[in-house]
Amino acid sequence: MPPKKAKQSPQPFTFQIFDDIDGDFCEEEVLVRLIHFWEARNFKRGNILMGLELLLIDSQSNAVQGFISANRLFHYEEHLKRNSIYKLKKFMITPAKKIYKVSDHKHGICFTEKTSMVNVTLGDHQIDEQKFRFRNFEEFSAIVDTNIDLFDVIGQLRLITGDNLHAPTTMETAPHVEGNRSSDRVFLHLLLKDGETIRIYLWGNIAASFRERWNKSEVKPTVLLLTTVNPKTIGATVSLSSTSSTRLFFDTDVDETKQFLTWLGDNCKTTPTIASSSSAVTKLETVTINEIHQFLQNANPQEVSFTCFATILDILPQYGWYYISCSTCNNKLEKADTSMYCNTCKEYNNVGLVRYRIEIRVGDKNGDLATFVVLNSEAAKIAGKRADAVLNEYIEAEGNDACEGINTIIPECLKHIIGNTCKFQIKLTNYNFNTSRQTITISRIIDPNTAFPTDSCEENAKEGDVDYQITVTSKKTRGKSDTDNPAAPNGNKDKRPRLDN
Ligand SMILES: [Zn+2]
Repeated sequence: MPPKKAKQSPQPFTFQIFDDIDGDFCEEEVLVRLIHFWEARNFKRGNILMGLELLLIDSQSNAVQGFISANRLFHYEEHLKRNSIYKLKKFMITPAKKIYKVSDHKHGICFTEKTSMVNVTLGDHQIDEQKFRFRNFEEFSAIVDTNIDLFDVIGQLRLITGDNLHAPTTMETAPHVEGNRSSDRVFLHLLLKDGETIRIYLWGNIAASFRERWNKSEVKPTVLLLTTVNPKTIGATVSLSSTSSTRLFFDTDVDETKQFLTWLGDNCKTTPTIASSSSAVTKLETVTINEIHQFLQNANPQEVSFTCFATILDILPQYGWYYISCSTCNNKLEKADTSMYCNTCKEYNNVGLVRYRIEIRVGDKNGDLATFVVLNSEAAKIAGKRADAVLNEYIEAEGNDACEGINTIIPECLKHIIGNTCKFQIKLTNYNFNTSRQTITISRIIDPNTAFPTDSCEENAKEGDVDYQITVTSKKTRGKSDTDNPAAPNGNKDKRPRLDN
């Protein structure tokens, strides 16, 4: 018979678990793994250090948030090591935090003068290394701007924009950050498992960590897991902002990212390039024409997309309906003596393409007016044929001599759209905030023949419809954002430790 004691655990002592402790003070020992710790600073008071926040997990996989105030830090600071196991006792039991929560537990813990935290290096302790709290797009939308819970997100990297990235994948620019906010930022699009794409802003150190990892990776990562992000309305869109407790995990870093990579299968080979209209894949807020004008007047220059219902009143002939574009960059070619020149590519280009560009006058149900610009592919959908085909028909009918005036005669095949109420997707760029003649470019005509949504529909929005939920939430916060700088990751009224770097 083998000796019985060989089977005994090397750690015969039974530890307490978070779920079982009660009262105000815990004398007993709890075996915990320190998952993560981060500084809590009060940016309202000169960014002073208030203490350290900790995320601890026990042997029953219960994660609890802890706090060591700045004046006690010297006791523990040296010994704190992420992923290490500790015996913890004599701490205060507090109610869970009301805001910026990173765990689901009903309790939090607070270190006192008596608290003992001893590193355990011996023994085979089965304590989880991570505990994530993932949420999908809809769930983030439902809690946007509440600052209550900081949940985790995982998805596929689809767009990356940031300073000093060796290989920026797009021309898209992130909103400008003003004041004394960290100017270090990375802007991402993450495609979630539910098929939604969400905008992500990484700030300060977190942006720097992302950049460092991205630049160091020979094979660029596909999957990104971000912890403790704060859902905020930025540029009228639900976005996730990194906080000072945010950690980044990539492709094979943890089980969850590995599983996501496996789930993606062949799709994981899609590099994070981006379609011409990146915002086509994010949930959009529906706005009126007046709201667009207000936004252009009050918000900081930024790139942002909305949907808008409007009726097409006319196609404006004075701005033409086509142009000759560079075959490389699609920009307009300029006439130069006998050939054509592209000011963007700085090259002569004799194989220019005929592309649509029409300006339409639109009005909405409030009687507000705007000029929308419809570009090639959307106009071709209206016409049912390409611009070069229409131009050729003209020339065949009228002869080459008529060519000069053709551009100001709107083709019949486009005119049938006049009078229709359409659902437009519009895209504002930095250009729109600075131009003298205000036009607004359409990125898509979502529905070329529809009706204005009824008011009752908007009022009943709270029940279920996510599209409208976002509309309602954003409207509520927009007035505030206009003055508070919509690009800023923190609300100004915040008296708590600053979470964003
Ligand atoms: Zn060009």
